[in-house]
Amino acid sequence: MVLPLARRGFLAGRRGLPRPAAAPHGDRRLSPPLPTAPAARPCSGGNGPGAMLRHLARKLRASGPVTVAEYMREALTNPGQGYYTRRGGVGESGDFITSPEISQVFGELIGIWYISEWMAMGKPNTFQLVELGPGRGTLMEDILRVFKQLASVLSNCDVSVHLVEVSPKLSEIQAEMLTGGKVQPNPEEELAYVKGISKTGIPISWYRDIQDVPPGYSFYLAHEFFDALPIHKFQRTEKGWREVLVDIDPEVPDQLRFVLSPSRTPATQNFIQPEETRDHVEVCPEAGVIVQRLASRIEKDGGAALVADYGHNGTKTDTFRGFRNHKLHDVLSAPGTADLTADVDFSYLRKMAQGKTATLGPIKQREFLKNMGIDLRLQVLLQNSGDTATREQLLHSYDMLMNPEKMGDCFNFFALLPHHRLVHPDKKDKPESKSPLPPVAGFNELSLK
Ligand code: SAH
Repeated sequence: MVLPLARRGFLAGRRGLPRPAAAPHGDRRLSPPLPTAPAARPCSGGNGPGAMLRHLARKLRASGPVTVAEYMREALTNPGQGYYTRRGGVGESGDFITSPEISQVFGELIGIWYISEWMAMGKPNTFQLVELGPGRGTLMEDILRVFKQLASVLSNCDVSVHLVEVSPKLSEIQAEMLTGGKVQPNPEEELAYVKGISKTGIPISWYRDIQDVPPGYSFYLAHEFFDALPIHKFQRTEKGWREVLVDIDPEVPDQLRFVLSPSRTPATQNFIQPEETRDHVEVCPEAGVIVQRLASRIEKDGGAALVADYGHNGTKTDTFRGFRNHKLHDVLSAPGTADLTADVDFSYLRKMAQGKTATLGPIKQREFLKNMGIDLRLQVLLQNSGDTATREQLLHSYDMLMNPEKMGDCFNFFALLPHHRLVHPDKKDKPESKSPLPPVAGFNELSLK
C-alpha cells in the first residue's frame, strides 16, 4: 500500500536546529558573567501577569533561588499551569514541529525498525511497545499502521502499547488519534490511568511514569522526550564550580534572572566529573535515572530501546532554549507558555546504562533513515504520485528530515540492546560454531530476513 510521504501544510519552524552563531533576540545566553545570589535575598518584585510567573515569584520570594532543573520542571509539567500540562505545543498549530509531524514515512521506518529487531531476536510471541512522551500520538499511529500492514508477519505475536505521558491534555489528544476517543479511565488503584483499544485492535494503556509500566519483553521509544526533561546548569568560576540558579530580578519587577550559587551545591558535587574540561555544563539527572531503568528492564526482561533526539556527545555547553510559535523564546520570560528544551548528552546516557545493555550510536538522523531505506521509499512514492503538488511536498518533507542543514545532522538515533544481540554470549569460546548475528538496522543497512 502506498502512503503519501508528506503531511499536509506543516510549518517550517521546529526545535533542534543548530543554534545561529549570533544569539538572536530573545535567546538568553549565560554571558556576560552572572551575579552571585545573595546569601539572604531581600524580597523584591511584584506579581507577574501569568499564573505560573506569580506562582514562581511567590516561591522564589519565600525560599530563595531555585535550580534551573526545578524551574524547568515547574514551567513544563506543573500539574496546574505547566506548559505540557496545559498546552502541549507539538504540531503545526503549536510551538514546535517534530519529524513524525513532518512525514509519516519517519514513523513507518521506525515501525520497521521494531519489526526488524523483533525478528532478529527470534520473534518472541509477545512484546510491549512502550513510548515515552508520545506528543500527539502521531508517531505511534504511523508505527501501528505498519504493524497492521505487516499483520501476517506479526500474526502469532501478542502486541500491546504502553504510553508514558504526564500531560492530561496530550493524553486526550493521543487517545483521540489512536483509538478514536474510545478509552476508559482506569480505577484509581491501578497503575495505568486510562485504557483503550487502538483503531487497529491493539490494547493501549497510559501511565504517568515508566516505573508503572508492567515488566515484560518490551521495545521502548523516546522521540524528542529526553530533551524535555529538566537540566541542571553549572559554570566554572575562579572559586570552583557553581550552579546556575533562577531568581527574581531585584531591579525589574516581574522579571526572572539567572544567578550563580554563592557556594557549591549538592548538584555541583554530584554531577561534575573531576576531569571535566568545559566551563559551562548541563546535566539531566532525570534522563540518567530513566536510562538506568530502561537498561535494567532490558537486561532482565529483554527487548530494546530506540532514542531519537537532538544532542551531542558530552561536548556542548549552553543549549538551554525556549520555543514559542515556532520561534526562539527567552527561557525566563512568561514561564509555562513556551516549550523549554536542552540538547541531550548521549555520552551521559551511555554512561548511565552502566554496562547493563550494549549501546549503539548516536548516529545522525540522515544516516539512520538512509540505512532504513528512506530513498527507496521516496522513489516508490514519487512514482505513484500523479500531481506535481504532492511530488513537491514529498521532496520538501524528505529535505526537512534529511538535509544536514535542517534536521538531518542535528538529530541523532541511539539504541540500548541486550549484549547478546551484538555478541554471541559464548563467542569467545567457540566463535566458529555460531552463525553471524544479523546487523542492527538503522545503524547498519536494513535487511529483513
Ligand atoms: N514524541 C513526540 C512529542 C515530543 S514533546 C514527538 O516527537 O512529536 C515531549 C513529550 O514528552 C510530550 O508528550 C510531553 O507531554 C511529554 N513529557 C514531558 N515530560 C515528561 C515526563 N516527565 N514524563 C512523561 N512525559 C513527559
